[in-house]
Amino acid sequence: MKIVDVQVIPFRVPRRVFRNRQLFPEGRTVQTLTKIITDEGAEGYYLGGHGHGDQDGLPPDERAHLRARAKSLLVGQDPFDREKFWHWMWVSKVPENILSVIDMALWDLQARMFGVPIHKLLGGCRERVKAYASTFPNMGTPEEYAQHALECKRQGYRAYKIHPYYFADPITFEPVPGRPSHIDMDIAACKAVREAVGDDMVLMFDPWGTYHTYEEALRVGRALEELNFYWYEHPMPEYRVHSYEKLAAELDIPILSPEIAAGSLYTRADWILRDASDMSRIDVLRGGITGCHKMAAICEAFGVKCEIHMSGFGNLQILGATSEDVCEYYERGLVAPGVDANTPEPYLEEIPDPLDPDGYVRVPQEPGMGYKIIWDYIEENKIEE
Ligand SMILES: [Mg+2]
Repeated sequence: MKIVDVQVIPFRVPRRVFRNRQLFPEGRTVQTLTKIITDEGAEGYYLGGHGHGDQDGLPPDERAHLRARAKSLLVGQDPFDREKFWHWMWVSKVPENILSVIDMALWDLQARMFGVPIHKLLGGCRERVKAYASTFPNMGTPEEYAQHALECKRQGYRAYKIHPYYFADPITFEPVPGRPSHIDMDIAACKAVREAVGDDMVLMFDPWGTYHTYEEALRVGRALEELNFYWYEHPMPEYRVHSYEKLAAELDIPILSPEIAAGSLYTRADWILRDASDMSRIDVLRGGITGCHKMAAICEAFGVKCEIHMSGFGNLQILGATSEDVCEYYERGLVAPGVDANTPEPYLEEIPDPLDPDGYVRVPQEPGMGYKIIWDYIEENKIEE
């Protein structure tokens, strides 16, 4: 069997946007379906591949890259030789997210052919995963965070992660360029949430690298320790690794990073050796299924948690193939009051991650990635290029 074509199909989808405490009316965005086609009729798919989660389509320059350079590597090759392509793509400097999209479409192809979900090809480990509700940043006042956390607890979540106040004023919610963080308000939101939900809910905190001094990061970390938070995620810019080494040595609360640093498992392995964080973090857009699965093994060998970043089908497949002792939680969201996390995108019959009453999400059991694609929607909303 040989690969004969690699296609990227852009199509329009409606999207309601939550930003700085407001839910904006419906706009439109572009989603992409990457499709790998073989001479025997087998196909593999990946939806999205840019930005946060798998709902952001590839932009025009990345589509062009995929159709030209990446496609030229693959046509004529055996689609099961994923490991070979993975190395070829690193060597030839294919951007990480594009490498990841190709890797995942190839996993989808083989798993569909075998009639199993990807996590069963990797080696199945579990069918459901503990989830945390992951909030939008600038979601409201500390009291609104607290009310929202309580509502999530009522829905069944046992864990809740705060993205606090950044890039916007925490009172007016107007953008504040050049002043990324607001630590007093961040601490106030954490206190309000802990008081509201009590001691039995797991809480995490993620200021998304907006603390630009070590002292700010340390002060917030001490407050989180007093409030018994489970982890302190990505507090500072991740290119200053020595600041992380100092912070991880100073604090007792586990530091969870690097999240968005480039370099997939290579960067993350180095962080482990440097003791720059206590828990590692990766997602399927940073090396694909192949890279994430390798990273989970590295973490397991070192006794370091490998917490999977973001939501979506691909990340759930990794979780289905790993132990809770290595990859503990699924990041469900982002969520906020008025944001609907339970209705599928118009091109899918089902959401990837229905929440059960115990606070777990199901790992998709359908063949491949687990998509149930509504092909008519994609056809009707296709953008011709
Ligand atoms: Mg994060």
